[in-house]
Amino acid sequence: MEAFGHPDETGAWLRCYRCWSRNLEVQLHVEGIYKIDPDTAERSETIDELHEAVIQCVDCLHDQPHLTLVDGRIAPVPDRWERMVTGTPWVASAIVSVPEESVEVCAGPEAAESLTHAALGDAGVREFFAHVRFHKHEDGQIVIHMLVELYARNANEAAEVLEEASRGNLTIASLAEESRPPASSPHGPH
Ligand SMILES: [Zn+2]
Repeated sequence: MEAFGHPDETGAWLRCYRCWSRNLEVQLHVEGIYKIDPDTAERSETIDELHEAVIQCVDCLHDQPHLTLVDGRIAPVPDRWERMVTGTPWVASAIVSVPEESVEVCAGPEAAESLTHAALGDAGVREFFAHVRFHKHEDGQIVIHMLVELYARNANEAAEVLEEASRGNLTIASLAEESRPPASSPHGPH
């Protein structure tokens, strides 16, 4: 951890978890409903407003699920940034069994997303690269066989994170550490 300095320093967490680049951008989507002033024709009172921020690395173009936007500033997601920034990629061959009714569609172009969501939920969909290899129907359950890539500091942590994200009965058939993608910045930590 020394290489990253104190967690209070933005340099520790305000970087791409994959290539450690500090060249980041935020895409902000605002969806709102506003009253219209009948005299000035201007947008006036806000009835409802929804902000969605997607933080991306400009160098490797990956989303940054360890970062979030809070009151106009980027903040690290607790319990996630250290693991993702200082960890290495792990690839798990995982099998998740979920009740059939929790899968919206299991065929067609949306099947992979729907199966991934049923198996790993929102956090898993945002944070992991998941590839559904195949699925089987067994006694009211759907057994989803997938390859999942996630970042963790060791094998135990990788297994724990999968366990936590899993929304059904999880079996990890194999778990292997991969090498980190090369750091993009010449000023990156060594
Ligand atoms: Zn990057």
